[in-house]
Amino acid sequence: MALFEHEVVIIGAGPAGMCAAMYAGRSMLNAVVLERGFPGGELLNTEMVEDYPGFERILGAELAQKFHDHAVKFGANIRTGVTVTTLRKRDDGLFETSTDGGEVYLSPTAIITAGGTPVKLGVPGELEYAGKGVSYCAICDGAFFKQQTIAVVGGGDAAVEEADFLTRYAEKVYLIHRRNELRASKLLQKRLFENPKIEMIWDSVVERVEGDEQGLVKSLQLRNVITGAPSQLAATGLFVFIGFRPNTGIIEGHVGHDEMGYLVTDENMQTSIPGLFAAGDLRAQLTRQVTTAVGDATTAAIAVEKYLKALKDGEREPVIQGTGGYTA
Ligand code: NAP
Repeated sequence: MALFEHEVVIIGAGPAGMCAAMYAGRSMLNAVVLERGFPGGELLNTEMVEDYPGFERILGAELAQKFHDHAVKFGANIRTGVTVTTLRKRDDGLFETSTDGGEVYLSPTAIITAGGTPVKLGVPGELEYAGKGVSYCAICDGAFFKQQTIAVVGGGDAAVEEADFLTRYAEKVYLIHRRNELRASKLLQKRLFENPKIEMIWDSVVERVEGDEQGLVKSLQLRNVITGAPSQLAATGLFVFIGFRPNTGIIEGHVGHDEMGYLVTDENMQTSIPGLFAAGDLRAQLTRQVTTAVGDATTAAIAVEKYLKALKDGEREPVIQGTGGYTA
């Protein structure tokens, strides 16, 4: 077992993790970022970003690389291919972060930026065309489908709300649902049924996503679950909204969360566990964008610095200056 000691361990190298690392580096903190894959997080599933200030249009992968390089320039230590298995606060107040490689990191603070995972359909073509017509984020990608015919899958609030949102851009939106009744709220349903650009496809599932010779989505293979009849739907986009799970399962012990499992923090991004901060998509908040993730991370990293200073000053339960601490 390899043992490492740091002032802060940052879990995840998406936009939030890399931004937190950049600020930690600027504060000369001894920090490490642990990332199970490649740096970039959801940016790597996004073809083009058009809503990050300063960049009118930038490839998701390119923005991810810029975040990475910027963090490294300020001394970030980003370890990739490292999967965190557990994070727990020990009785001596240190966080113990364990990895699948048998490493253990000890630190007085931790920032969890592990994001969330959109539930996937699990059908052929879905992952192959992710970022090339298949999307899990209407705000991020809707504008790429101006005047096009697209499809949305799901019957909950997210699918119904986003189908309605997508008609701002698309000429036609099919909402494909596996039953003949939506579980979305009645208000959202009313708005949906009143929208002339939306057509329902009931009792149906997507069985395959098909692409054209340029590698972009061109049609969907559907099946009616009552009759078993197959059909083909011409669509250049497929938005999947069948649930989203925040990646919080590594945390041992109770941590404050909302009814959907997102971590509740105070205004300093501190969770109900003192010294554990959260930033990005796994945090309970109104929206989940790259811009909000880096905002969270900036606050979290600066709060960590103040927390560590209070610890060094001998405070047993550090209060980050200028706030009342955890209140949720
Ligand atoms: P959700 O409520 O769990 O709904 C998931 C939908 O996806 C269901 O209609 C489900 O069908 C369908 N589904 C699940 N697995 C599927 C599969 N493999 N193939 C096809 N369809 C599948 O998820 P959500 O819509 O993401 O909402 C999550 C939570 O966020 C909810 O509590 C929701 O109220 C909340 N939310 C609220 C708002 C809002 O109030 N404006 C907006 C977004 C989300 P069945 O119905 O047949 O199970």
